[in-house]
Amino acid sequence: MKRILIVGGGIGGTILANNLARRLNHELHSGDVGITLLSASDRHMYQPGLLYVAFGRMTPDEIYRDQASLLEPDIAFHVDPVEEFRFEANAVRTASGKSFEYDYLAIATGSRPVAESIPGLAEHAHHVYTEAAALKTFQALRDFQGGKIVVAAAVPHKCPMVPLEITFLLHDYFQDRGLLDKVKIHYTYPINRVHSLENVAKWAAPEFDRLGISYETLFNVKEVDGAKRQVLSEEGSSVDYDLLIAIPPHKGMEVIEKNNLGKGGWIPTDRNSLRMENRDNVFVLGDTTNIATSKAGSTAHYEAEVLGENLAALVKLGSEVKTYEGKVFCFIEAGKDRATYASFDYNHPPQPQPPTQAVHWFKMAYNRLYWNSVRGLL
Ligand SMILES: Cc1cc2nc3c(=O)[nH]c(=O)nc-3n(C[C@H](O)[C@H](O)[C@H](O)COP(=O)(O)OP(=O)(O)OC[C@H]3O[C@@H](n4cnc5c(N)ncnc54)[C@H](O)[C@@H]3O)c2cc1C
Repeated sequence: MKRILIVGGGIGGTILANNLARRLNHELHSGDVGITLLSASDRHMYQPGLLYVAFGRMTPDEIYRDQASLLEPDIAFHVDPVEEFRFEANAVRTASGKSFEYDYLAIATGSRPVAESIPGLAEHAHHVYTEAAALKTFQALRDFQGGKIVVAAAVPHKCPMVPLEITFLLHDYFQDRGLLDKVKIHYTYPINRVHSLENVAKWAAPEFDRLGISYETLFNVKEVDGAKRQVLSEEGSSVDYDLLIAIPPHKGMEVIEKNNLGKGGWIPTDRNSLRMENRDNVFVLGDTTNIATSKAGSTAHYEAEVLGENLAALVKLGSEVKTYEGKVFCFIEAGKDRATYASFDYNHPPQPQPPTQAVHWFKMAYNRLYWNSVRGLL
């Protein structure tokens, strides 16, 4: 029997498991293949929903499903986080002390915000990257009656569009509450333009100008002085705030760092085959790769589809059939019930179009369709 082991039950691991279960349906039933998914939680979070929770547009219960309910029935699912990767033995050891052996291993453990890595950031800034933080942000926005809001982006972070989306949604939020004349929104970004993707930056800067949102580039957050309500940058500049919303830097999961799989928790991964460096039967997908592309759910989704096809082909034909070409698709909420999107790959940069209501409503629909998408049905 060929044993396929998937570690991580987020979007990448779940789509991969379901994709494989369909492609290898016959082999699963004949006992020639076994698919096991190990995760750290029995719940699955639709992470992009956190942005909507912070603005009171979704409630936390809407962004969770029972993980087992999202999986094809032939997948063996265990809530038992991996603690040790034992590549020489083709096995992992889990928190419960069990050993799971494999012929093929896929790692999709995601990433985590590390606000505490910047002095003062965790204590004084709000963010939307966990349920608790999104709820605190929701309350802080409700309580805010006027003053300067600073949106400060640190790197690296997951979902490259969140800094822009938060900024546009803040403008909407205070306009809807009739407080826009009392609120000033200021955006800071670490490189010399307002977004890492050049064409997205070219589109977003004039949108900011039109809405009266000020911005400052080449601003790498070094420290937050809570007493002075000031953000200091590595470049030596500073900005005052009344309410600070941060995009905290991210790292891969601790288990990846503890096992020395990659610096910062980012696993060295071939950008086309998705194979872990120096490991023939180990593949990596989603946020935890070190591939220089967006850490986004869509990246994990497209990688999972390529990997599903390749692992099934390895079982049936003995070799891979597909390469990942860097495909990513990100919606960009632009405020006033309008949105645009960035679709790109390694060779084709995004060309964002003027935002429309149609794209916004498609994103609203996707917020519900996600549960079909993660089952591998879309
Ligand atoms: C506010 C916000 C907005 C976003 N907006 C968008 C968007 O609009 N579009 C988009 O494409 N992306 C968006 N993203 C990013 C997207 O959610 C992530 O990039 C995506 O979830 C990464 O998928 P993944 O499978 O790599 O990891 P995750 O989905 O994070 O899953 C990781 C899984 O690994 C499990 N795990 C962790 N440690 C272990 C262990 N030791 N053993 C076993 N399992 C383990 C976890 O329990 C979890 O199930 C957003 C994210 C946030 C927070």
